[in-house]
Amino acid sequence: MKPVFIPHLCYQQFLLENFRRLSGPAFVIINKDWPLVTKFWMTDLSAITPLLQDFYSNRGPEPRDPACLFRSLLLFIMTNPTIGITEWINEMKRTPLYAILSGFEIGDVPGVGTFYDFFKQLWASGNKHLRPQHRKRRKSKPKKGKKGEKAPTTTPGRVARLVDWMMRHTAKKTALPTDRLFHFFQDNILSVSARLGLLGDCSALSASGDGTPIVTAAYSRSKSTCDCRAQGLAECSHPRLYSQPDCDSGWDSSREKYFQGFHLYMISAADSKHDLPLYPKLQPASRHDAVSLVLSSVEFKQRFTLGTMDKMILDAAHDAESIYVLLEHQGMEPFIDLNVRSKKNTPAKEGDSNLAYRHSHLPEGDPYETKRNGHKTLSP
Ligand SMILES: [Zn+2]
Repeated sequence: MKPVFIPHLCYQQFLLENFRRLSGPAFVIINKDWPLVTKFWMTDLSAITPLLQDFYSNRGPEPRDPACLFRSLLLFIMTNPTIGITEWINEMKRTPLYAILSGFEIGDVPGVGTFYDFFKQLWASGNKHLRPQHRKRRKSKPKKGKKGEKAPTTTPGRVARLVDWMMRHTAKKTALPTDRLFHFFQDNILSVSARLGLLGDCSALSASGDGTPIVTAAYSRSKSTCDCRAQGLAECSHPRLYSQPDCDSGWDSSREKYFQGFHLYMISAADSKHDLPLYPKLQPASRHDAVSLVLSSVEFKQRFTLGTMDKMILDAAHDAESIYVLLEHQGMEPFIDLNVRSKKNTPAKEGDSNLAYRHSHLPEGDPYETKRNGHKTLSP
């Protein structure tokens, strides 16, 4: 059956009834819990049910309310992010407040399978992974940066080729498995922030983009798919089966070490003091920030409907000519910190080294003819 829409008002009544009925020595909401209760009281997540309704089957038993499962998932991440879903279900049984805040009656908490079925509805793809599980082992380690600096782009031409391809294909929007979640995020969370003025001026938004390392495991796990080793061949080039193909190894420039996992590339609103996220995206750890920006900015531009992007603020890892070209092409004004090691830069004036510079507007006409000729103006 399709899930039935339950308005947020009904959830609020459910909370009130249960708090009144249960309050006593066995059920206490301590001071530290009130911010949590307030957050869930205020946040209307009921719209996830109509959003996912189409993806549920017409037959079978009535499913759990997707809004309750989603609330429970958020509560899990906010309170006990390290324990895993199985243990979270035990935690909800131990702590009645968590079950009630999720919207479940005490003694009627769903099982692990219900949560995993719900995750499948959120992820718009039959495949759990973005990249194929069968891959060849990477021969070389990703490049590391010099002391205190970001890793250099592996091949400078790669970003340029990607930008070139992207600019020819920006009109064509490819569906992503993450689209359902992003549409929910945009319609029900970003739009509320925009209305409250927390994102800044929506008709001319300023955003910033940067990557953060997210460690998932110490080593990558993979199995061989051939019997070369049994035959005594130590080196072979057959593909291996990776358990987490979307993760790989990358360079963490601030801790100056390699790590295994993702780079979380985040486009955030930079025009207000809140720095709220606009478009978070997990990229493989080996992916350079400049490449992630190209992918994220195009995807974001195709999906964001709440306003117009006007400025993009980026760090020195993005200081490449093709990034300026792409952002100008998308109608954004680039503000990029200069890469001090880049030979193409004009030397900064004395005393100006810590100030951000930006390119003057690129001349009208074919962006490909534009060369980085060192026209830089001091950013306001
Ligand atoms: Zn082999």
